[in-house]
Amino acid sequence: MNLYDYVIVGSGINALVAAAMLGKKGAKVLVLERNASVGGCLRTEEITVPGFRHDVMATTMVLFRTSPAYALIGRDLEDRGFALADSALPTGVLRPDGSSVIFAMDRRRNVATFDALAAGDGKTFAREMDVLGRDAPFLFALLGGDLWSLKSARLIAYEGLRRGLRGLAAWFGEALTTARGYSRSPTARRTSGRCGRRGFCTAASDQKARTLR
Ligand SMILES: Cc1cc2nc3c(=O)[nH]c(=O)nc-3n(C[C@H](O)[C@H](O)[C@H](O)COP(=O)(O)OP(=O)(O)OC[C@H]3O[C@@H](n4cnc5c(N)ncnc54)[C@H](O)[C@@H]3O)c2cc1C
Repeated sequence: MNLYDYVIVGSGINALVAAAMLGKKGAKVLVLERNASVGGCLRTEEITVPGFRHDVMATTMVLFRTSPAYALIGRDLEDRGFALADSALPTGVLRPDGSSVIFAMDRRRNVATFDALAAGDGKTFAREMDVLGRDAPFLFALLGGDLWSLKSARLIAYEGLRRGLRGLAAWFGEALTTARGYSRSPTARRTSGRCGRRGFCTAASDQKARTLR
């Protein structure tokens, strides 16, 4: 008799979500992890000031929160004590000279912050956010959905009709281009350069960011 219906190697968020969803369907799942703690790139640790615990890698859980998986298992997680900590000042960046820059949920404040770093970057940032806002329904449906599905094929076909094939190809091309070149100040480039203009993070752009640090 099999002890488990599924064995998952690694305990990152994808494995844990898959295990939870299978478990919810009644399957017996074993998750194997080689590290001392589970969670993969989701880790909260006390690595700086004693008593101050913070996320050392992934921090922004918006894709998980808006995903179909969260709709399915979110309530179960919350019943077990899981809570997302929202913040008005969710992110910041350290600069080579030791100073830091804080970014907010308030767009006007961020525009002013970028402008203070390099005149004109605020306007560029605002324009990029407008483009992102217009693309959001398509972008987040792609990021949150099952890529190899009829639903995604229909979505892409619809956007192909709307934008034209060349327009759609250009959109995907820009999605894989690092956003670093859109701003002048080194800080803004370091902040936005990890991900593509449409929010897709690629191994290549991550590697470039590491090289720059
Ligand atoms: C610095 C950084 C910041 C990030 N920030 C964000 C963010 O803010 N928001 C966001 O949405 N995403 C972010 N990401 C991306 C996100 O962390 C990953 O997409 C996500 O963690 C991938 O999850 P995963 O389950 O696929 O794998 P991982 O999180 O990589 O976990 C894989 C796990 O498998 C284990 N494992 C591997 N091989 C074996 C083996 N042979 N046997 C046993 N165990 C094994 C590993 O030890 C690890 O625990 C960030 C990533 C990094 C590196």
